[in-house]
Amino acid sequence: MTDILIAGGGPAGLTAAIYARRANLTVRVLERLTLGGQMSLTPDIENYPALTKTEGFQLSMDMEAHARGLGAEIEYAEVTGFDLRAPAVICGDERVEAKALILAMGASRRKLGCEGEEKFAGRGVSYCAVCDGSFFRGKPVMVVGGGNTALEDALYLANLGCKVYLLHRRGEFRGGKALELSVRAAPEIELMLERVPLSVNGGGTVESVTVRHVVTGHTEDVEVSGVFAAVGVAPATELLKGMLPLTESGHIDCGESCETPYGAVFCAGDIRKKPLYQIVTACADGAVAATAAAGYINSRAPEQT
Ligand code: NAP
Repeated sequence: MTDILIAGGGPAGLTAAIYARRANLTVRVLERLTLGGQMSLTPDIENYPALTKTEGFQLSMDMEAHARGLGAEIEYAEVTGFDLRAPAVICGDERVEAKALILAMGASRRKLGCEGEEKFAGRGVSYCAVCDGSFFRGKPVMVVGGGNTALEDALYLANLGCKVYLLHRRGEFRGGKALELSVRAAPEIELMLERVPLSVNGGGTVESVTVRHVVTGHTEDVEVSGVFAAVGVAPATELLKGMLPLTESGHIDCGESCETPYGAVFCAGDIRKKPLYQIVTACADGAVAATAAAGYINSRAPEQT
């Protein structure tokens, strides 16, 4: 039986794998889609210590290589259920048990919730500027949101030669000051503050977005070819409802120790409630969770493990 099973191969999961291997434990990481998770879709990373500037995809590959180099098993498999008492995960017909389980499934982008969004999803409405931005090279686009992701996406698209309308529902940005200053200095980016999207319009492709000013109620159509939603993230805890304490936003409500009420189950990264969601804090969680899991395994008598 594997010592530590890790659900999710983002920075938290991959760091947990590195720490587990360094504790001489066997480790298996299950990733549904993309190793690195949200990190792999981040254009430029400028706040990871010692790396002045790197691409999210590169950092993801480096973390994967580090974990594999130490002997971590990393597989692509979608977890479809959990048995936290065992602990075990279900992947379709397969049940995978381990001595300890680390939940590191992260989070994914929230939907805008406006008319036309579903209709044009994948055909003009995107949740990933790095993945889809090049389709809109030189064209007008709208980014919706005011957090770090929205600011980064706006800069990324401006660098592709897009005219970028950055639509945010408040007058102040939630994202960091350094990014905000870069956005404000970019001539290709036009701020549309205190506005929300009402509908995404078009025939076969996106042609415009109807937006409403939240104070005056004034509505207008903005002609764009693409819409990039960056209105926050939702933690991947759907399958854990009723099993673990979750906050209103769906994050696992455990402390900084990354422990859950199940002795053999730990959580790490954007899936848990914490004060700061960053790659570096996800990595920190991975280290804490793997060390706690190792402690749990080592504290058990051999016949119990
Ligand atoms: P976020 O920080 O939660 O920001 C979401 C933004 O979307 C907020 O500005 C919010 O407005 C707006 N919003 C939410 N719901 C909306 C709706 N229904 N309609 C219109 N606007 C809506 O999310 P994020 O930018 O995806 O970032 C997630 C986490 O990752 C954050 O902790 C962030 O700091 C971190 N992150 C860090 C970096 C970095 O350090 N380089 C890069 C990316 C992400 P309000 O402000 O009015 O609430």
